[in-house]
Parts: sequence; C-alpha cells; structure tokens
Amino acid sequence: MNPADFKPETLAAQALGWIDERTRAVTPPIHVSSTYLRDPDNLYRSGRMYARADHPAFDQAEALIATLEQGKAAMLFASGMAAATPVFQALSPGDHVLAPKVMYWSLRNWLLQFGAHWGIEVELVEMSDPAAVQAAIRPGQTRLVWVETPANPLWTVTDIAATAAIAHAAGARLAVDSTTASPVITQPLALGADLVMHSATKYLGGHSDLLAGVLVTREDDDFWQRLRALRVNHGGTLGAFEAYLLLRGMRTLYLRVRQANASAARIAAHFDGHRHVAQVLYPGLPGFPGHAVAKRQMQGGFGAMLSLRARGGEAAAIATAAEVQLWKRATSLGGTESLIEHRSSVEGPSSPVPADLLRLSVGIEDAGDLIADLEQALARAHA
Ligand code: PLP
Repeated sequence: MNPADFKPETLAAQALGWIDERTRAVTPPIHVSSTYLRDPDNLYRSGRMYARADHPAFDQAEALIATLEQGKAAMLFASGMAAATPVFQALSPGDHVLAPKVMYWSLRNWLLQFGAHWGIEVELVEMSDPAAVQAAIRPGQTRLVWVETPANPLWTVTDIAATAAIAHAAGARLAVDSTTASPVITQPLALGADLVMHSATKYLGGHSDLLAGVLVTREDDDFWQRLRALRVNHGGTLGAFEAYLLLRGMRTLYLRVRQANASAARIAAHFDGHRHVAQVLYPGLPGFPGHAVAKRQMQGGFGAMLSLRARGGEAAAIATAAEVQLWKRATSLGGTESLIEHRSSVEGPSSPVPADLLRLSVGIEDAGDLIADLEQALARAHA
C-alpha cells in the first residue's frame, strides 16, 4: 500500500512506519553526538556536519508533522517562541505586519518590543473580522499577517481562508499559530496559509514534559531558507532527547486530542448557563460568535481549550481556582492532565483578558470527574 493512502492517525501511530535498518528497531535511537565525521576527501556525504544545523533526531518528527499539516517541510525549534520569532526576524526594516489584538500574550509583547527596535511596524487588528483586516492591510508594504486560531484565551476564531485571500491579494504571507487547534482538527496550509507554527510543548508533545516548537511551510522558497538560516545561526535548535519525546508523544496525538475535545465539548455545554458562570467561551457552542467559521474550518471537534467567566467576578474566579482538587492550577495547555488558570494574573494590566476569566485546558481524564470538581469549586467560591 502507498503511505499516501493511510489516514493521518495511522501515520502518527507508527511515526510514518520508520524502522532502523541496522538494528530493526521500531523506535529511533537517540543520537547524542554534536558533531559528524568529515570524509577523507573533505566532503560531508552523510549530509550532517554539526548538531546546531541539523540532527538525525529531527528527521522523523519533522517528516511526520509536515505530512500531518500537508506541508512541504517542517523545522523543529527549542520552543514555540523559538519557532515563532524567526518568522518576524526574517522580515526587513520598514515592513508592516498585522497581528491579532487577542493572541498568545508573550508573543504579542515580544512582537511589539521587537517591532519597535527593528523598524518593523506591527499593527494589532481584530483578526476575526475580515473587514478590519482588509481595512488595515497595505498592499506592497504588509509582508506578514499573523493569525492565531482559536486565539488565547478568548478562543476567538479567525477565518483562515478569507484572511489568506486578503493577505495574498496584498502581497503578504499568512502565518498561523495553530497550537490550540493542532493538526487533528485544522490544517491551515490546506486553507491557504503559507506557514504554520505550533508550540509543540502543547498537543504535539502532549505530556507536559518537553519544550519544543515547529514551523511548517507550504513552499520550500527563499523565505523558508531564510528561516532555516535563522535556526542555524540563532541556535534555537531542539535537543535530541526532546525530539525523541516529541515523536513519542505524537504517536498518540489523535487519541489524546479526540478524547480532550469530546470532554471539552461536554464541559462547555454543562457550564453554559450555570448559575455561577457568567459566560462560557468555547468555539463549539452554537451561540459563540466564531461558531459558524469554526464549524467550517475545524473538523471532528472544536478544541480542548475553553474559558469560564465567574459570575462572582475576579475574587470568585481566583477562589474557584483555589478550590479545585483534580484540575491542576498551572499555566500551559495540551497535556494529559487538565489545567486551570486565572489568566489576567498571568498577563498583567496590559492584557485584554477579563479579570473574571478562568482558562481551562482539558486533558484526557474522565469528563464527569472534571465537571464534578469544577462544580464543587464554583459552589465553594460563590458561597
Ligand atoms: N503559541 C501559543 C498559542 C501558546 O499557547 C504558547 C505557549 O503557551 C506559545 C505559542 C509559545 O510556546 P512555548 O511556550 O513552547 O515557547
């Protein structure tokens, strides 16, 4: 059979079916060498020279992610931030960039500072509104449109196909931070994006035990080669052990994401209209503003991230997080364990996040257990 005929979950489960030719091992060895032998005639026929440039541990993981995202190539980095920042560093001074008002806060903060220092004009727009993007884009000067969908932590949904059309008509690239969707439910390249970025620390790794990032490209073009040079020269390269953990995590990506998605949908429906909850933010709820677009571009679920706004305000939100027993009070997302976080405490006063908001990353535990724990915590916090 042709591997192209296999479903993505089949390819992920077997990590593309790779076998070590020498030992017949079905999982790859961890090569720890930082350097490679040069041939006597002064060539590097193995294609390897030094581990900052490339590493055997990346081959399978990059090939698998590129396949799942339907891209030409993928590149691993030491973290999600290490993957995202070169996309902006590869631009030239004077370039104009559109980014969302609501997005992963660390990247937004870095972008505003980096843009100011390096002469890149960064404009934050309401990315979920194509008319706002159309009004802000400057043909010939806007070189990059950065999208995050669903976007942290309000889970705002952006129409990738519509935004790609606007970007391309103006001569700009479209890059999508697809961390929270994961390739299981959205493939941005197939919808017209040029680049996809993941914090592989989240669903791809899936076990809260590694930091990693990845970029995937639709074309192996000059921009991609500039990104490759930035990885080599900035040195934000992933370690061999982390690459191994990432590949191991991805084998169960589909099982984990599907279970978490199903539980998140149940939790969102349960707390929608709850007496202690002012609002549930979740793209899967029919009343959510981005629901129609989400239905179109997310398949088999609406993600496992949602937020609850406590009816009792900020104090009740913080008290709810204090009262949970099963949910873990911690930042991050995409692990097997469910996490709860009072997000405005993390993001500080410049954040657009309401003070009564609790961000939930749903893991793979029993959904009934997760609901019961939140029920008791909300009741105590609102007593
Ligand atoms: N993008 C999103 C949506 C994130 O949630 C995060 C981390 O929380 C990042 C990027 C950055 O990833 P990392 O923490 O792996 O650098």
